This record gives sequence, structure tokens and C-alpha cells, in this order.
Amino acid sequence: MKIIGLTGGIGSGKTTVAKIFNSLGIPVYNSDERAKFLMNHSAELITAIKKVLGKESYKNNTLNREYIASVIFNDKTKLQTINSLVHPVVAKDFEQWSNQQTTAPYVIKEAAILIESGGYKHVDKIIVVTAPIEVRVKRVLQRDNTTKEEVQARLNNQISEKERQSYADYIVKNDGEHSLIKQVLTIHQSILEED
Ligand code: ATP
Repeated sequence: MKIIGLTGGIGSGKTTVAKIFNSLGIPVYNSDERAKFLMNHSAELITAIKKVLGKESYKNNTLNREYIASVIFNDKTKLQTINSLVHPVVAKDFEQWSNQQTTAPYVIKEAAILIESGGYKHVDKIIVVTAPIEVRVKRVLQRDNTTKEEVQARLNNQISEKERQSYADYIVKNDGEHSLIKQVLTIHQSILEED
């Protein structure tokens, strides 16, 4: 199965772009959502996370996202440790999922940290969604119950826009001026026509 990685900085519009691919019949695996799900449901992962972040990391058997965010977004080492625990579990889950997608021409693997995690090495092509930073911050503030400082902290843990784009086979400009649907259709066509 051909795997197309879809990434972009926080609030760039990955999920929005993924939805357009999905409307064309392309199965989409949302790594970030699946990671959250697995952090709440994989016994192996729950035990490992509690070991690193303490019992407070779960409240009523549910991931205490507020507590975790406050710890890991200010501690790069802990963030890396958590990522290294979550990553193999998500990778296995993705493999199982993609093995079931037998009829699609390709699948999309959406992941915020596709480059940072090294996940990009296991995909066939990379799509990077971009938008000006001030637009991204504004969109996230409108979407989430969060603060500018928290968005900034998350931004600080991601690679620069320039570096991310250097990995791209395709770039989607989500600045509100270029048509997303047109760009997605062009990429879709190009993927279908390859080899
Ligand atoms: P995150 O990294 O936080 O998961 P993301 O990259 O998946 O974010 P989206 O959730 O797709 O980004 O988009 C962020 C917010 O901006 C959403 O509320 C979405 O509806 C909105 N948005 C995305 N693209 C556009 C656009 N072209 N015009 C207006 N709003 C948009």
C-alpha cells in the first residue's frame, strides 16, 4: 500500500486537508487522534506513561491532558520520552490499519510530528500544509480553549517551517487565498499517475 504522509505545523490545516482527501475516497489515519486514543486504552502505554509522569497523569482512568501538557511542553526531555513510548504503539496500530485498506489506491497518514519523529522515513511521499504563523495561531485560538502562550510553547517544540518544507514532495498553501480543493485535486491526480 502506498503511504502518503501529511504534516504541517500546529493549526496549519492538516485535518482540513485530510478531510478533502477523504472525500475523494482516500482512507486517512490521524496519528495524533489515534495516539490520544491509545494513550487512554493501551494498558502497556498507560503503565509506561504513569512511570514517567506519575499517577497524576491519569484522572478517573482518563488521560489528564491538562497536567500532561503543563509538564511536557516545558520539559523537552520528558516530551521526547513520552513520544518514544507512544511512537512504537502508534506505528504498530498504523500497520494493522493500513493492512486492512486493501482497495484504496493509497492511504494518507496525518501526523503533526511526521518529520520530528522520523516517521517520514516510512512513507512514500510527503505533503506539507503551510500557512502564515499569525494565521495558524489565530485559527488555533479560535478552535481550542487555549492561550497564546500555550500555542507558542507547542510551536517551540516543532521544527521550523523552512525545515519542514525541505522534506516536502508536495506543498499545500492554506493561507485562505489559494483554493484547497484545487491543490488537493492536483496532488491526488499526481499520486495516482505515479508509477
Ligand atoms: P493541529 O496541528 O492543531 O492538529 P491542524 O493542522 O490539523 O491543527 P486544522 O484543525 O485543520 O489544523 O485547522 C485549524 C483550524 O483552522 C480549524 O478550526 C479549521 O477549521 C480552521 N481552518 C483550517 N483551514 C482553514 C481555512 N482555509 N480557512 C478558514 N479556517 C481554516
